[in-house]
Amino acid sequence: MDFYKQCLYIVATPIGNLGDFSPRAVDVLQRVDLIAVEDTRHSGRLLQHFAIKTPMQALHEHNERKLADALVQKIENGQTLALISDAGTPLLSDPGYHLVRLAREKGIRVIPVPGACAAITALSAAGLATDRFRFEGFLPAKNGARRQQLESLKQETLTLLFYESPHRIEDSLSDMVAIFGAQRQGVLARELTKTFETIRGGTLAELSSWVTGDANQRKGEMVLLVQGAAVADPDDLDADAERVLKILLQDLPLKQAAALATEITGVRKKKLYARGLELKQERGNQ
Ligand code: SAM
Repeated sequence: MDFYKQCLYIVATPIGNLGDFSPRAVDVLQRVDLIAVEDTRHSGRLLQHFAIKTPMQALHEHNERKLADALVQKIENGQTLALISDAGTPLLSDPGYHLVRLAREKGIRVIPVPGACAAITALSAAGLATDRFRFEGFLPAKNGARRQQLESLKQETLTLLFYESPHRIEDSLSDMVAIFGAQRQGVLARELTKTFETIRGGTLAELSSWVTGDANQRKGEMVLLVQGAAVADPDDLDADAERVLKILLQDLPLKQAAALATEITGVRKKKLYARGLELKQERGNQ
């Protein structure tokens, strides 16, 4: 397998099933001089399982900025490094951003070794729109900030992807029911690639009562996906204008009803006339 020296490899690790660790990932980790890991005990078990004896160095949220300099210097001095996280693809809601940025600034080659990512794994099986989506990572832990964030996403038409934790899933789902609406579709993807993998779709209200009613559904690791908001049709009338038009149509001819409805609602006459025509046809068909 190709192997380049004096560079930084970003290596994805499994999100549960060890069978998902690619031969290339194992090969690279065996050949580099040092592996930066989030947690040496956690990654130590994975490396041992794959007979990877390369030394490790802890790099986490709290020391990343400080350590990035030293790691980049090691590469400049001739070493080859790899970065892994506890699970999945580094940098995706995991450390590594500062290191990758600095390495690239210094002209060091950064080579990704792709593999599992919980968000993409969930998306691939959820049955929600995948052509465009929005990855939101973890919602804020505090109630107020979380609700504010959800409010800001209410009109988002792209599929939304969230990482969730077992102790916050109930609160997040009930906030989503309140803010996105009970009927919005969602999918909860739990324990992906593991023994108790569960991928359940339904309205947000259904998911919320399912999770509240069954403690097992609050265990383990989970990704929550939410269907995007419906795209408003510019030709649709709002509920008020539609109501006014319907009342007027009961007693007036279409042209007059549309003109009067324009005066009352401020909506363009052409739009009201077109909708009035549809309503008349619907009635004629009944
Ligand atoms: N970098 C990782 C990735 O590529 O997926 C994500 C790291 S983030 C700190 C951990 C979160 O990812 C978990 O809290 C959960 O939301 C999600 N996650 C990780 N493994 C998962 C799995 N097997 N099933 C469902 N969600 C998972």
